Amino acid sequence: MKWQGRERSSNIEDRRSQGGGGLGGGFGGGLGSGGGFRIPTSGRAGGGVGGIGLIIVIGIICLALGINPLSLIDGSMSTGGSSFQQSRPLPDAGQDQLADFVGVVVKDTETVWTDIFKANGLTYTPPKVVLFTSQTQSGCGVADANSGPFYCPNDQKVYIDLSFYNQLRQQFGAPGDFAQAYVLAHEVGHHVQNLTGVLPEFNKRRQTMTETQANAYSVRVELQADCYAGVWANRIGQENLLDQGDVEEAITAANAIGDDTLTRGTVSSRNFTHGTSAQRMAWLKRGIQSGNPADCDTFSGSI
Ligand SMILES: [Zn+2]
Repeated sequence: MKWQGRERSSNIEDRRSQGGGGLGGGFGGGLGSGGGFRIPTSGRAGGGVGGIGLIIVIGIICLALGINPLSLIDGSMSTGGSSFQQSRPLPDAGQDQLADFVGVVVKDTETVWTDIFKANGLTYTPPKVVLFTSQTQSGCGVADANSGPFYCPNDQKVYIDLSFYNQLRQQFGAPGDFAQAYVLAHEVGHHVQNLTGVLPEFNKRRQTMTETQANAYSVRVELQADCYAGVWANRIGQENLLDQGDVEEAITAANAIGDDTLTRGTVSSRNFTHGTSAQRMAWLKRGIQSGNPADCDTFSGSI
């Protein structure tokens, strides 16, 4: 993606220098291999829990941390192994370049969604994007590196610990700047859903749903965010800002973070919350090909 030297968003909240020191202990361990999750026991990590228990365990951990799992979008859902450490050095030059990159991508999402909303007689109010290291407070509770990037509708902010991009590249095998851009554009897609009423409706309705029903609903929400990321990529492509291979990088990332791929077949599809790799790639591609959010209706018909 052509991003060097381009304008950055003014809606970036850089909290990286704050570290995580003031927020208390947090919990050790993090996501184990194979999609397992370590349960915090008296401040230290316990044994891994895999498979079906995962989603329930995530809910418990969210509550323990003060995060409302009903309002958190994505966050702990970026399941898969992780080897994050609780304390990390201050941002290095590489991270500063990443922060610049994030600023440009966010600016591009502002331009694209402002245009699309305007074309529909609406006004787009962009989200703030919070860069943090280790831990930070969000409107959905305390966020930490294990959360993965997420959108919090309560404060309308996207949260990302930039070290996630190392994980995306090294562990999920999805390198490239446009893989990173896709992740951001997906989170911004959730903000769009918040503005259009999709997220509020989801959060309202899922409280009376069974776990399985809520998961199925969640998949449709997530696939629409993927499609919206594709719409954004389409518009960026029209501005000649894509490099060769960018689209493939995003699709590789969508493939890597599909629920079936992340959990390596150990979890029933009834417990999927984001969609299979095939579904995620399909809806991302659909957005990329169409460039029109009207083609991102994941709620009617089969997915
Ligand atoms: Zn999402």
